[in-house]
Amino acid sequence: MQNINRRLENVKQRIHHAEERFGRPANSVRLLAVSKTWPAAALLEAAAGGQHGFGENYLQEALAKMATLQHEPFEWHYIGTIQSNKCRDIATHFDWVQSVDRLKIAQRLSELRPVGLPPLNICLQVNISGEASKSGIAACDALAVAQEIATLPRLKLRGLMAIPQATADFGQQRATFRQVSDLQTTLIAQGIALDTLSMGMSDDLEAAIAEGATLVRIGSAIFGPRHNTR
Ligand SMILES: *Cc1c(COP(=O)(O)O)cnc(C)c1O
Repeated sequence: MQNINRRLENVKQRIHHAEERFGRPANSVRLLAVSKTWPAAALLEAAAGGQHGFGENYLQEALAKMATLQHEPFEWHYIGTIQSNKCRDIATHFDWVQSVDRLKIAQRLSELRPVGLPPLNICLQVNISGEASKSGIAACDALAVAQEIATLPRLKLRGLMAIPQATADFGQQRATFRQVSDLQTTLIAQGIALDTLSMGMSDDLEAAIAEGATLVRIGSAIFGPRHNTR
């Protein structure tokens, strides 16, 4: 576990260097630590290194960690697949949901977001061609759905999220991220106020930052190789 602090520092350096190298303002890229499969103690270790935002993919696992860590001032992002029957727990316990991939889910999250809480921050997950993940809305449908989500009262649409196909080719990484970034620009030009572009993981964060990511989601580069429990 003492490695987490060292790895976290290394990731922050990578982000910092990428900001410099690609002409991005300092500190314009947020780091989300993806803590799926890691125990509460690992999150506390990252928190000791200054980490505040955590991403989780599996609802039951996340709820258990939240209970253990309820006194920590963490910001929780849901980044996993969303089933309709899980919307109540997701809308109640998370600050952000980045994996919204259809209007129906957004409507349910809005209906179920408790009134005592601030609006739930939302990213619309898009599926740019060739993505590893099967989920995500097609680029051609994104504008219409984003316009609908932007009207939902208990949600705050913040931007797009993407999980491109892994590739070692830097040029190819950039080309795919550029498509996501261009789509975000199109939505903004249509009058939708967005401030978050969530793309980039452990192996491609530099390319994502080069293309305008404002939030990178980093798991293994912080916590180490994942436990193979799923
Ligand atoms: C697991 C996961 C990540 C982190 O991936 P790493 O390659 O470990 O950095 C980021 N985003 C999503 C949606 C994930 O499921």
